[in-house]
Formats: sequence, C-alpha cells, structure tokens
Amino acid sequence: MSENIHIKPYLRLSGLEPLVVRPETNFVNVGERTNVTGSKKFARLIKDSKYEEALSVARQQVESGAQVIDINMDDAMLEGVEAMTTFLNLVQAEPDIAKIPIMIDSSKFAIIEAGLKCVQGKCIVNSISMKEGEEKFIEQAFICKSYGASVIVMAFDEVGQADTKQRKIEICHRAYKILTEQVGYDPQDIIFDPNIFAIATGIEEHNNYAVDFIEATKEIKRLMPLTKVSGGVSNVSFSFRGNDHVREAIHSVFLFYAIKAGMDMGIVNAGQLVVYDEIDPILRDLCEDVILNRNNDNNEATEKLIIHAETVKAKGKVEVKDEKWRNEPVEKRLAHSLVNGITDYIDADTEEARQKYPKPLDVIEGPLMDGMNIVGDLFGAGKMFLPQVVKSARVMKKAVAVLTPFIEQEKEDRKQAHLAAGTTNEEAAGAAKILLATVKGDVHDIGKNIVGVVLGCNGYDIIDLGVMVATDKILDAAIKNDVDIIGLSGLITPSLDEMVHVAHEMKRRGMTQPLLIGGATTSRMHTAVKIAQEYDNGVIHVLDASRSVTVAGSLLNKETKPEFLTGIKTEYHKLKEDFANRKTVKNYLPFAEAQQNGAAVDWDNFTPVAPTFTGTKVFNNYDLAEIAEYIDWQPFFIAWEMHGKFPALLTDTVIGVEATKLYNDAKKLLQQIIAEKWLTARGVIGFWPATKTAPDTVEVKDEATTLKLEFLRQQIKKAAGQPNLSLSDFIAPEATGLKDFIGAFSVTIEGIEPHIKKFEEAHDDYNKIILQALADRFAEAFAELLHKKTRIEYWGYVSDEHLTNEQLIGEAYQGIRPAPGYPACPDHTEKYKLFTLLGGEATTGIHLTESLAMYPAASVCGWYFANPASKYFGVGKINDDQLKDYTERKAMPPDEVKRWLRPILE
Ligand code: SAH
Repeated sequence: MSENIHIKPYLRLSGLEPLVVRPETNFVNVGERTNVTGSKKFARLIKDSKYEEALSVARQQVESGAQVIDINMDDAMLEGVEAMTTFLNLVQAEPDIAKIPIMIDSSKFAIIEAGLKCVQGKCIVNSISMKEGEEKFIEQAFICKSYGASVIVMAFDEVGQADTKQRKIEICHRAYKILTEQVGYDPQDIIFDPNIFAIATGIEEHNNYAVDFIEATKEIKRLMPLTKVSGGVSNVSFSFRGNDHVREAIHSVFLFYAIKAGMDMGIVNAGQLVVYDEIDPILRDLCEDVILNRNNDNNEATEKLIIHAETVKAKGKVEVKDEKWRNEPVEKRLAHSLVNGITDYIDADTEEARQKYPKPLDVIEGPLMDGMNIVGDLFGAGKMFLPQVVKSARVMKKAVAVLTPFIEQEKEDRKQAHLAAGTTNEEAAGAAKILLATVKGDVHDIGKNIVGVVLGCNGYDIIDLGVMVATDKILDAAIKNDVDIIGLSGLITPSLDEMVHVAHEMKRRGMTQPLLIGGATTSRMHTAVKIAQEYDNGVIHVLDASRSVTVAGSLLNKETKPEFLTGIKTEYHKLKEDFANRKTVKNYLPFAEAQQNGAAVDWDNFTPVAPTFTGTKVFNNYDLAEIAEYIDWQPFFIAWEMHGKFPALLTDTVIGVEATKLYNDAKKLLQQIIAEKWLTARGVIGFWPATKTAPDTVEVKDEATTLKLEFLRQQIKKAAGQPNLSLSDFIAPEATGLKDFIGAFSVTIEGIEPHIKKFEEAHDDYNKIILQALADRFAEAFAELLHKKTRIEYWGYVSDEHLTNEQLIGEAYQGIRPAPGYPACPDHTEKYKLFTLLGGEATTGIHLTESLAMYPAASVCGWYFANPASKYFGVGKINDDQLKDYTERKAMPPDEVKRWLRPILE
C-alpha cells in the first residue's frame, strides 16, 4: 500500500520463494519450453497424458536457469482448462519447480482463470489486452487483480496487434491509464508485451519489427518507469526455424539491444541462450544488421544472413550425420545419398558397390534403383518436393556415370566373345523409353526438363529432343528408338495447333505409342476437344511433372493400360460433348457499337508528356547486379511446382524448409552468375509519336516509315457503364489534336548455352534447371527495370515514384507494358511491327520463330502505354464482323489471321 513508505515499488513475484525484480536485476528469464505451441515435445507429452515426463521439462527449465516458467496449453486438440489445471496442480507438488513463479499463458481467459485457481504465490498472467474493447479488458484485469496476479498486457487493441513503434507506445499508454486509474493496478505490477514479430522473412515491411520493439520499449519505460517490458523472444527468429545455431545468435543479439533499451524479462529457452560475446563475429555482424535493420535495402542484410545460415547449417549437418550413416553398408549409404541428394560420396560408394556386385548393371538395378524407389514413393506421398527429386536425380546420374564405362566395356567383351564363338548377342529388354520434345516454333523447356528428370528418376529411359522440334523429327526419332511413349511440351498458343498436327501425323503413320500433352498453354479441354480426336492410341493431358509419373506408370503396365486408356477416352469424350453443348450464348455487341463504347479517357484534361528522345536506345550489356534487384521470385517457385506466395512460402509449414533450400541454392548461383558474368543482358527501348487514326488503329511515325498498329477490341456485351476496351483507346485520337506517344521494348538474356552444357556434362540437372529459371527471372526483371527507368527518366511521364519491388511486381505504377500474344493484344503477328520499330532482330539478337516465340527463351517484349487510364484486360471472344474488319486492316490472308486468332474466335 502506498502509505507504507518502506516497501519499494518493485515487481514482486513468488512461487515458494520470492522473486523481486529490482532496478539492478539484469534480465528475468522466463522458461518457454512448457508451452504446447512452442515445443513439440511438450505438446506430445501433454496430449499423451504423460504428465510425469512433462514435469521433467519444467524441471529442466528451472535447472537451466529459468526464473519464471511460462505454461501454455493452447492447442485445438487439448481440453485447455483441464490440461492447465492438471499440470499446475502437479507442479505445485514439486518444490524444486514450484519454488519459482508461474506465468499462466493463454489467449483464452477461461484457461487463465483456471490457472489462477491453482497457483500459490504471486504469478503473472500472460496476457490480457484491449483486442475486444475496454470493457472486457477491465473485467479481466479486475479478475487478475483479485487473485493478486501481475499482468502482461499485450499491445493489441480493437484495430489489431501493434506493429509500429508508435502504435505500441500508444496502446500501452492507454492500457496503463485504464489499469492504474480505473482498475487500481500498481504500476509495478503491469508488464507490457509490445509484440516481438518475426524479422528476416523476406517481406520488407517486417524488416523494422525488431527496431520498432526496441525503440518502443525505450519510450514505454520512459513514460511509465515502474512498469516492466517483456516479450516472446523466439518469435523474432521464426523465419530461421530448423536452424537453432542461427536462432540462438539472433536471440542473443536481439536481447543485447532490447535489454539496453529497458526490456526486463523475456520468454526464452533458458538453456540455450548464447553469450553475445561468444557468437562468431561474422554471424554476429549479420545478425546485428538484420535486427537493427541496417544495410538492409532490398532485403540485402536479410539475404546475407539467410545465405550464411544455410552454410552454417550445411556444415553442421554433414558433420553430425557423418557419424552415423557413413558406417552403414554400402546399399544403405547409396540410398541415403539418393534420398538426401548428397553427391559428396557418391563416386566412392558407387565404386565400392561395383566391386561388391557381380556386374556393374547390378548396381543400377539393385541398390540404386532401390534408393530411387524410395525417392519415388516419398514424392508420390507428397513427402518430398520437386527440387529434392531433381537433386536425387543428380546423385543417380553421377552414380550411373561412374558405372557406364564398365557397362560399355562389358558389352564390348560380350560382343567379342559372341563373335569368337559365332553366336548372336541377345540384349535383354531395357527400361521403357519415353521421348520428350518441345514442339516446332516453341522454345521453352524448363517444364519439359523437369518432367524428364522426374521420369528418369522412376527408371525410364528419357530421350529428350530439346526445343523447336519439327513433327517429322519427333516421329522419326520415336520410330528409330522404338520408344514406348511420346511427350510433347508447349508454352505459347500456336503450339496447340502444332500438337494437333503431331497427333494427326501419328495416325497417318500408323503409330501406336500413347501421346502425352503438357506445358503452360495446354489444357485438358483442348486436349480432349482438339488433339484426342486426331489419334486413337491414347492422348493424355498431363498437368504437371508430379502427375507424369503415375500416368507413365499406368500406360506402361500392360495390365492397367487398357483400362486406363478407356477411362481417359470416356472422360475426354464427355468433355468434348460438354464443350459442344455448352450453354454460354455469346452475347456480342455489334462491332460498330463496341467501337463506340471504348474507354472513356478525359482527353480535354490530358497533356501527353513527350519522351526525352524519339527513336531507340540500345543497352548492350546491362549490369546484372542491378537487374537482380528487380527479380520477382514467385514464378521461380511455380516453375518448381512449389505453390504459395513468395516470400511467405519460405516459412510455410509444409514446403518452407525445402523452398528455403532451393531459394538459397538459387541465390548462390545468382551471385556466381553476376560475379563471373555468365550472362549478358541486352535490351532496347524506343518511343515514337503515335495517333489513334481509326477506332482500333494507332499510327506510329518512325523516322523512315509510318506503321499502323492494329488492335482488337472487347466485344462481349458489358454491364451498363462498362467500356469495351481496346489498347488503341489509350492513345490520343487524331481529333484531339494532342501529340501523343507510344513506346516499345524488348530484352533478352544471352549466353546461357555453355553453362547449360557444363551442368549437363556434370549430370547436374538441378543447377541446370535453376539456371534456366534464373535466366527467365533476369529477363522479366530487366523488363521491370527498364519500364521503371522509362517512366521516370527516358520517357519521364512520372516525376517521382517510390515503389518497393513488391509494388512494382503488383503493377502499382502508371502505364502498362502489354506484350503481343497476351490477352490485351493476343495477335502475335503484331510482334513483327514491334521488332521493326526497335530495329529488327539484330538489335538485341532476339530471333522470332515460326510460331513467333522469341529465342533465346529468356526474352520479353511489349508496348509502353503511358496514359494513366491504361490498364491490362483480356480481349476475350470476338465475332466474325470484327474478324473481317481486322483481316482487312491487317491486309493478311484470312486463313492466316484466323490461325493466329484461333484462341479468341469461336
Ligand atoms: N513479375 C512477373 C512479370 C511478368 S507477367 C515476372 O517476373 O514473371 C506480367 C507481364 O505480362 C506484364 O508486364 C505484361 O507485359 C504482360 N501482360 C500481363 N497481362 C497482360 C494482358 N492482359 N495483356 C497483355 N500483356 C499482359
């Protein structure tokens, strides 16, 4: 009581023994392991009602120096009130545990109240907050006070959890006033938890979380000096889950600064805190940068720490694992290497196995295939992910490479023996063969490469003909090699027709192999409706690499094949019928009316900005390091069939660990590509005066020529007030008298081939595919970068723009860069004009294939529209009137136009 002047206003807690938190008390460790949400082990023990063992976890905490123990039973699978009551009652009976104060931790107040009924001494309630408003807060505070407990108040209000420094301070201050003025709490019994959030997640907005906490702590202690500040420390390092070494260093560095700022207590793993001064200085510096958010533009510090963390972890892992699995028999070691994708010992182990087995082939068919079967099973069961499988394949290929010369030698010996004896050499039938190719005119092969690797892992012989492969070449090779399955891949729409053609030719040639269809542009519907009818011996759409294994398996098993094919046929037949009977009545606006209903751009209040130059500007060898800052990683993970939002997927509970490994491997290769200049970024941008001279036509004036760009217009009837858009609407019409402009760009990443070859020679599909995917990332990032420079500098239609990379990826800027062949301008043939304006193929070395794909594959092009009203849309379906008009404007043979526009015609 305040009249007793001898009692100092300190936080006084107790179990069986008192714990007084004095100003000179350094830092109170609150043991965190007795928490079902934070400790798997503890959770398991409680769920299994192994309370005795669970008590030993608490005891351990005390022995490791915890001065308070935090107890939490918040788990959906637990009866929280009961678990809390049981456990606390048991704790009370253990003097070596009960001597220290308890922190009753729950987000459910009923559980807290149950806990309050059990503990003796003066405990801490963790926590109450204003998240459900002041009334609830006051009510709960009164209850806590009536039990004599001190309370942790979380910085959480009706709006949500406080993340910024300012919100943390405001909420804590508001709670303080309520608790002291209305509930009658002594300030020293109030402990604030201003929220420690995870940093280094890859999300820019999270980078300052530790700083926010530290600075808020300082201010809270200044404003309310008698109160205490606490927090759950391990949250801060959540994104390094699985890497305790790094996590401990982060905790220690974080606490070093937070305690300096006034943090009094924290929930920690008491046994695991490392001494600040004993952290490896390199790691410590990296942690400091991340915690204090220094040198961290574009997540630079975060990424450095991630890379370092991975090397620390990798080192630790090999050393630890070395002990056990290296002592196993060679078969087990081979399997271990395969499953874990470890190449370090594969040469030696394979050689050892070769000497042990009668024939080199036995090693492949025995232990290696056994190992790959485990990989296949784990992948099939969703317990392994694509990058791991590709790493396993790398191990397999290296092993096979060791054995191949011996197998060849053996074959040769046998042949000689047969020759000498005058007998014939009957080769045993080998593995099933699958031929893969990206069709004529198409250049993309990442997906196909992945499928090849995955199928290869499952024991099939893969013949990969590469990209831009003509039908005849595919079919000749299939016949010559007597393959069992043919798989086609394609990315751009014209490839769909090409696939129809392949199927047609297969029938004409009387072939029998099933045909697999895959790739970004393909679909089950198109396969059913257009391709399957051309060929009778099985046409199957395969959604992704993971499915290819089961499909191939069903097709190659003589028993399952007929049933499987019948099933597919029935299914596709049904799809085809549905397609024919589909009820979607196309409600077209008469074309002239659609043209009248274009985008409403307020030309009266628009002054076009003239670019700083007209004509083109070429970039021959752009700095890769600068481009890398603009990379959008999301599509990189999609290429690896790892779905989820980047960067959240790095910490995803299912794929997080493997995604992070892949990310780190990619980053490493990225650094090497930049440092050793493996690739060359070439690009060109250009701007020209442009006028809308007809409803869907934009006239572009080059120095030498005048070109007419023809655009397509949405024609489906829209809701009232909605425009029927055409890109031409975003260029000023002649009648306005305005001098408007249009721009264009193309970029490419050159020089990948020798490095691909090198990885192929090293049997390293993993890095080969990463490299291909990175080249694509560079091309897209270069397009992003040049677009930004165009807006700010070269065209200069925006004066200032401060967008993060996430915002750039989210297209938060003014203007667009639509790509011919994409939904707003689906006609690929307009690419010819774009290339002409930019100086032809020679400018950047990009070649247009017969399907108008760009080669090298890592290339991007598009138009620049600056108008603030401009936006992306899809043209959608058009009717014959527009087709006729468009054909006339294009002055192209109608059949040719139809071929290119097929996707948007009926
Ligand atoms: N960040 C992505 C960007 C590429 S996809 C990556 O790194 O892969 C986005 C691009 O596709 C746009 O910039 C534009 O060039 C093109 N695009 C998207 N929607 C379009 C549409 N409806 N019409 C034309 N082009 C479109």
